[in-house]
Amino acid sequence: MSDRSSLDAFAHATLAELDAKALRRRLVATTRGAEAAAHRDTRALVSFSCNDYLGLANDPRVIAAAHDALDRYGAGAGASRLVTGNHPVLVALEERLAAHKGTEAALVFGSGYLANLGIVPALAGAQDLILVDALGHSCLFSGARVSGATMLRFRHNDVDHLRAILSARRAKHGRALILTERVFSMDGDRAPLSEILAVAAEFEAWTLVDDAHGLGVVEAGARAPLEMGTLSKTLGSYGGYLCASQGVIDLMTNRARSFVYTTGLPPASAAAALRALEIVQAEPERAARPLMLARRFTARLGLPEAQSPIVPILIGEADAALALSATLEERGFLVVAIRPPTVPAGTARLRVAFSAAHSEAQVEALAEALAALTASTLRG
Ligand SMILES: *Cc1c(COP(=O)(O)O)cnc(C)c1O
Repeated sequence: MSDRSSLDAFAHATLAELDAKALRRRLVATTRGAEAAAHRDTRALVSFSCNDYLGLANDPRVIAAAHDALDRYGAGAGASRLVTGNHPVLVALEERLAAHKGTEAALVFGSGYLANLGIVPALAGAQDLILVDALGHSCLFSGARVSGATMLRFRHNDVDHLRAILSARRAKHGRALILTERVFSMDGDRAPLSEILAVAAEFEAWTLVDDAHGLGVVEAGARAPLEMGTLSKTLGSYGGYLCASQGVIDLMTNRARSFVYTTGLPPASAAAALRALEIVQAEPERAARPLMLARRFTARLGLPEAQSPIVPILIGEADAALALSATLEERGFLVVAIRPPTVPAGTARLRVAFSAAHSEAQVEALAEALAALTASTLRG
């Protein structure tokens, strides 16, 4: 076999396995607009699958800020931030992020995924221990793997399990790092952060909280010494960040490889995120709306009360989740099915994400459609 044909044979065999388990993924061209609108092919849908929780990606003020930066500063940063890519708008964004989180400093990365790929290996190495919540995001695990540290999972939100692992293993390692999320991306529940921080203090471990789904929508409660997140969800733009002490930020500027060796964020993306963050701070009633809508929805369907704008509807098997998602799409709702390996096997689900851009009527219509569909599934 030529290299080319063995390569294609490998690709096709792997894809066939995924197909057989209803786990193959495909890209669908989608455009988004104001009021949670999404278009796929010629179909107009109301999206419940975007992480743009405050509708800021299509806010005219955010768009204008990006336009202005684009016109004035051009399309790209031109180099790594340590060379010539450190545009003043990035500095202004970092100052505002740090003030928002109450930390000394902040550092903007190319994306949230890149942030964790850089932050974690800059803090831990081969002699060290990293404990990750079992339902943590892929980039937390990737960062831990790249670091070369011993990586162990603790049961989701199980502080006793975390403490048990630390008491058994802590003494064998130099530094210890705990990785968790403020709001879990696929389950919508929140970490018991004060308890985790107390255990961390007991065992001299550092805690990193991934706040990708909390910033601007669910922010109450304890803060960790390492708060990272993304500019691509509530802030409606693109990029990632870390908020921490000045010393930690200076360390990252020198040691986070995914910061040092990559091009700076385009100024227009930073300007959009900066304007969005100003809106988050100025309009608390907007920030409260997604959770209010999520709670209305869970009450209406008799589900456990929403803890965030993310509500999972557990289905189980991947093919059943896909079928339910397809039926909803026929009725005008975009609610994408989430399948393994994004979630554990047997927990395929619909992940419903609420936004300030949704109307109450849209939420009610989805609840009604789901109530009817799940009732007929049960009868069938
Ligand atoms: C989306 C997400 C990320 C990655 O952020 P990007 O900016 O999209 O790369 C990291 N962590 C969590 C929990 C996320 O949901």
